[in-house]
Amino acid sequence: MLRRVLDAWRRWSEDRICRRQAIPESLWQLTLARYPFLTWRSAEELTRLRRLTTLFLSRKEFSGAQGFVITDEIAVAVSAQAVLPILNLGLDLYGSFIGIVMHSDAVLAQREIVDDDGVVHQFEEELSGEAMHGGPVMLSWHDVDAAGALDSWGYNVTIHEFVHVIDMVDGVADGVPPLRSRQARDAWKSVMEPAYADFCVRVDAGKITSVDPYAAESIDEFFAVTSETFFVDPESLHQTMPQVYVLLADYFCQDPCTSQSR
Ligand SMILES: [Zn+2]
Repeated sequence: MLRRVLDAWRRWSEDRICRRQAIPESLWQLTLARYPFLTWRSAEELTRLRRLTTLFLSRKEFSGAQGFVITDEIAVAVSAQAVLPILNLGLDLYGSFIGIVMHSDAVLAQREIVDDDGVVHQFEEELSGEAMHGGPVMLSWHDVDAAGALDSWGYNVTIHEFVHVIDMVDGVADGVPPLRSRQARDAWKSVMEPAYADFCVRVDAGKITSVDPYAAESIDEFFAVTSETFFVDPESLHQTMPQVYVLLADYFCQDPCTSQSR
């Protein structure tokens, strides 16, 4: 009984936010036009995408680094892409953080690694986005904005970083999202681990891959990068890694290859 009351209250509260903080129609249409991969779904899913985008905007705090100004256009562009992976899973998967820090362009981060002999190596890494345990999520607007032009390359920094957020919900970035049971985890790994090993062999052999070779970096990057391809260039993933495509379609409860609106 209490559960039903809480669900009803939550629904009422969310409906009120969606009415009072509605995304203007012109801005929503502009966002869909700029990122066409958002539209590859049913009318019902598109309505849910808009609702979740509004709720995401109401729960998260955007800030601009080094004077970068966050406009409504920027906040909606990020939010609409961020909620794509959880469209049929729910916003609770993004409950671990509030802040989203936007930079105008990629940033250089100072990194340090210690090799097997204990020698410290310092280097700079160019970051177009970064997700950390407990947040915030960092994104480069230059890269977020380019998503519409780069979808045929399978590139999408927003989806990439938010899939890392999903991966970390169970406390560890191990390329496995939160799943209901040990059997489900084992089933996940039985698809992803051999696919990752096979992909690394292809990358090491210098073969051209339709998925970004960065996916060979680690198993958690493989999950994030194949998810990018799944959402923005689904045919490529379906053709080259059909088992990974089916696994992701099952997990995200979406099947972008079969959308009628493409
Ligand atoms: Zn990554």
